[in-house]
Amino acid sequence: MTLSEENYLKAIYHLGKGTDAMISTNAIAEQMRTKPSSVTDMIKKLSDKDLVRYRRYKGVSLTDSGKNSALSIIRKHRLWEVFLVEKLDFAWNEVHEIAEQLEHIKSEQLIDKLDQHLGFPKVDPHGDPIPSKDGKFKKFVKKLLSEVVVGTTGVCIGVKDSSVAFLNFLEKNHIALGDKIEVLDKEEFDGSLHINIKNRRIHISNQIAGNLYIEIQ
Ligand SMILES: [Zn+2]
Repeated sequence: MTLSEENYLKAIYHLGKGTDAMISTNAIAEQMRTKPSSVTDMIKKLSDKDLVRYRRYKGVSLTDSGKNSALSIIRKHRLWEVFLVEKLDFAWNEVHEIAEQLEHIKSEQLIDKLDQHLGFPKVDPHGDPIPSKDGKFKKFVKKLLSEVVVGTTGVCIGVKDSSVAFLNFLEKNHIALGDKIEVLDKEEFDGSLHINIKNRRIHISNQIAGNLYIEIQ
């Protein structure tokens, strides 16, 4: 498969949110920032390889084999993002573009070793789930810290706001991916939170809490 074919499969998967919904060629063209005629050419190629189903006037959906390929690309993308943040100290907002390149590396062996090296992570730095090798997602509850009730404990799995200013704030306050956070109290006045993070009690604004994702166990 070419790099471009892989990107189309991924785009169709994301547009269909993992379902078998038919996706219009216009929607794909918009997502891929290209002309509908280029999409039509590509759809024909993918259809010849039995990766997509095409119905005139209705659109395109992924075949099982197309879906597996898309999931494999997504898996690689998200594992690389974890690697870049955890092992190479990239900031959360820097990793997506690099992972767009790394996701096309073919070696299954490399990806399996990477997965093992990272301790089989279930979520990427943006809080999105990483499919397993057989294309399954672990079910987990992802919520914004601002939305949970007092007494909730969870693990910090991602950020909604990936601006440099926000990431700098997190770094300054020693809040990182994988940190266990317990919500101790919530101020009724402004929705700010008192949290326990790594045995430190800190007070964070509602705005901060509204930009941090936690996985609730
Ligand atoms: Zn990404």
